[in-house]
Amino acid sequence: MKKFLTVLLLCLLVSCSARAGGIETVTLFDRQSKPNTSLLIGADAEQIARYCPDGKLKGNVLAFLVKMKGRAILFDTGLPDGRIAAELKKNGFAAEDIKTILLTHLHRDHFGGLLDAEGKAAFPNAEVYVGRAERAWWVDEKKDQNVIRAFAQYAGRIHEFESGARVMPGVKALDTGGHTPGHVSFLLKSGKEKLLIIGDLIHFTGIQLPLPDVAVKYDVDPVKATEARKRIFDYACEKGIPVAGMHIPFPGTLRLKKTGAGYEAY
Ligand SMILES: [Zn+2]
Repeated sequence: MKKFLTVLLLCLLVSCSARAGGIETVTLFDRQSKPNTSLLIGADAEQIARYCPDGKLKGNVLAFLVKMKGRAILFDTGLPDGRIAAELKKNGFAAEDIKTILLTHLHRDHFGGLLDAEGKAAFPNAEVYVGRAERAWWVDEKKDQNVIRAFAQYAGRIHEFESGARVMPGVKALDTGGHTPGHVSFLLKSGKEKLLIIGDLIHFTGIQLPLPDVAVKYDVDPVKATEARKRIFDYACEKGIPVAGMHIPFPGTLRLKKTGAGYEAY
């Protein structure tokens, strides 16, 4: 009897964890770019020659649709011309199906896709989650009209969260301010799986992985941005958690290991 109960308990545990499921990530490709190395801060000519031999950086813009705990969450929305909505469609998701959008920060390549070509909500049924500090910086302080216009189309559906808070089951916002004052990364956990969605903690992996102290001119506070990059990357290495970044080469996910002063993808 005792053995039977043990087996039953084990079966229940196994089926529960199977139901709890994992994390399925769909990478949504927006575009590629090849900006000039003059965007870099803190790299000398020799380092640039070594890591960017053609004198150009390789950048791209991605968003992620994550399926976990019975929900589909869109992380960031790409630039304003609807390419992410089109990518979603290719993957079998109509814009109306998207109920939850989480934003890492409020640069245009992350929130721009909230609007369609007519300036209306591209995701008519979505609730949008944004960090309180990030919204305050762009809306209250800078009075950024692009952000204000986009959020107006989601009136009553913009939800703020604090850095460090659990935004929804299995999703925690980590304070990674620096690139923008309220920039957050998201730590996802479902079943045994974990994933870090790191937004703009890194822009150009070719040079910023081996030289993580190199910042970019898009960073509002390059020193804090660098500190946040290294803190989260060290954590990802230590815990063996994969990272997904909006500017990491397609498909945008990496596992990291430490190599001397920098990191390597594997
Ligand atoms: Zn960006």
